[in-house]
Amino acid sequence: AKREGRGRVRFFESEMDRELRDRRLLLHDLRQAVEQNELLVYFQPQARMNGEIIGFEALVRWNHPTRGIVPPDQFIPLAEENGLIIQIGEWVLREACREAASWPRPLQVAVNLSPVQFQAGDLERSIHQILLETGLAPTRLEVEITEGVLIGDFARALNLLRRLKALGIRIAMDDFGTGYSSLSYLQSFPFDKIKIDRSFISNLEATPESAEIVRAVLSLAHALHMPVVAEGVETEAQRAFLEREACEEMQGYLIGRPEPIEHYFDLIGINVER
Ligand code: C2E
Ligand code: CA
Ligand code: CA
Ligand code: CA
Repeated sequence: AKREGRGRVRFFESEMDRELRDRRLLLHDLRQAVEQNELLVYFQPQARMNGEIIGFEALVRWNHPTRGIVPPDQFIPLAEENGLIIQIGEWVLREACREAASWPRPLQVAVNLSPVQFQAGDLERSIHQILLETGLAPTRLEVEITEGVLIGDFARALNLLRRLKALGIRIAMDDFGTGYSSLSYLQSFPFDKIKIDRSFISNLEATPESAEIVRAVLSLAHALHMPVVAEGVETEAQRAFLEREACEEMQGYLIGRPEPIEHYFDLIGINVER
């Protein structure tokens, strides 16, 4: 057993070395990616419970020269550690706003903000600047934040959120239910939307507890006059449950996956001529 234990320790060490090397390589590549325009924005539709499309969430992708399309979970945390996320986040915001400003239908666009963007840089100024630059009406922009934003200097974060809202944009609380003190945060800021985390939706059929949690979140949010978006809706059964429970909006593979915007041209009123 001892030998096995030692062997395992050695295995973990080399595994860690490899991960470290891999991360260094990835970081080097990521710095280049930002400069060489390898980042892409995909768009995923958001809909009312009857299927009517009301907007899109912008989700970043990295088109790596050899690795192909790298999902954000594999590079956002890295970008957050070294501050690159500030540049990346601003780029995504600008791209998303520019794109949305060109749509014939005035649909909304939602953009994710990292807690790091809140702590450093002048977020309010850069959002204001991007809105002016792209001509997008502030009411069509929604920013999605997680609880991470409110951890640390709570008063400062709250102040910044208020100033963002004063720009005329909307603020959604993302991944609701996955943090530790979500309930108290709801009391301190009037979010325009609450997004119930995908994990509760995907367990709806399998675990009765998830259904209870979803009901509880809906009743809490509604008591505070905040509409709810269900994330990760994949089946008609999930949609029907959410509609019965008076959930306002949904997002998920049932409606559409994140795709390059061209994929959704018909939904936004752009005629595809060929
Ligand atoms: P998120 O903000 O919670 O985004 C929703 C994620 O759920 C997306 O993953 C989306 O592809 C996935 N999803 C949507 N519907 C379904 C469904 O029906 N089934 C399943 N299985 N998945 C679904 P994605 O695009 O890989 O993004 C992962 C996370 O990366 C995002 O989670 C967000 O936290 C972060 N992220 C993405 N783009 C940005 C960005 O521009 N800035 C920042 N700061 N974070 C971003
Ligand atoms: Ca999001
Ligand atoms: Ca989410
Ligand atoms: Ca998430």
